[in-house]
Amino acid sequence: MKLAVGVDLGGSTIRAALIAPDGQVVRSERLVLTGREPEAVVARVLELVRRLDPAAPSMPLAMGVAAQLWVRTGVVAVGPNLGWFDVPLGAMLAEAFGHPVRLVNDLDAITVGEARRGAGRGERDVLCLFVGTGVGLGAVVQGLLIEGADGLATELGHTKIESPTTGRPCGCGERGCLEAYTSGRHLPERLVEIHGSGFASSLLAAAGGDLGKVNALTIEQAALAGDPAAVALWNDIGEKLGIAAANTVTLFNPRVLVLGGGVLTMAPSLVQRVTSVMKAYTARPALSKVEVRGTELGDQAGLVGAGLIAHEP
Ligand SMILES: [Zn+2]
Repeated sequence: MKLAVGVDLGGSTIRAALIAPDGQVVRSERLVLTGREPEAVVARVLELVRRLDPAAPSMPLAMGVAAQLWVRTGVVAVGPNLGWFDVPLGAMLAEAFGHPVRLVNDLDAITVGEARRGAGRGERDVLCLFVGTGVGLGAVVQGLLIEGADGLATELGHTKIESPTTGRPCGCGERGCLEAYTSGRHLPERLVEIHGSGFASSLLAAAGGDLGKVNALTIEQAALAGDPAAVALWNDIGEKLGIAAANTVTLFNPRVLVLGGGVLTMAPSLVQRVTSVMKAYTARPALSKVEVRGTELGDQAGLVGAGLIAHEP
């Protein structure tokens, strides 16, 4: 059986898997990133792929990266989790592996995995909207992954919802992005903002002022208990994400919208808010055909998708 390698490069871990042509995970490995220098990361990727199988480095390989990528030239334009800007990762990997390596945005890899082998199996039009450390969207439309001219398409997290000069600063270096108001990385600051605007919160007191203890899970628990600040924050984020999801559904007319990522996984009541706002704001004809689903492949979706992309000729 012909195998390919899928790699998922996150902000703190690298995962790699041998993937069969039908998307089955044959074997997988992971390691924790110790340094974030590009040279060191490439060496660790090679080490991890060798661990899968001594022959794996010569197999077709695709790697999902949480970054805005110039896919055609293999350059990481903006990778906030790794602190990378304009890193020629594709060329570095090609040199290390001795053959071209395909780079793909992490949400694009996840979407290919879910569309072909997961929650969207059997459908040709599938969107994945994930909210975790960042906010990402991937779109498979008429069976094809939408990458755009340079691989930068569907960057929903970096669409602007406020002024690019006075809006909240985003990890991408710009201001006013959807992600800066709704992603996991910004939750503690957003809670402080909501609190400062007059909403009481037992959550901040419970965290002893340590904002490092505030995350999607603690906010979800507080919101369910009726904490005013947590409820106000979830309503605000639910509305922003719901409108973004609605406009995306109106633009792409998908059959399936998959909602996932660390924040949404930990916060079912936020998923409900996003879904109900999405339904209220989507153009009626497109809404009548879309179904909202959770992920089916979970944290394996990106590995499966990258492996399936590596199998493509
Ligand atoms: Zn941004």
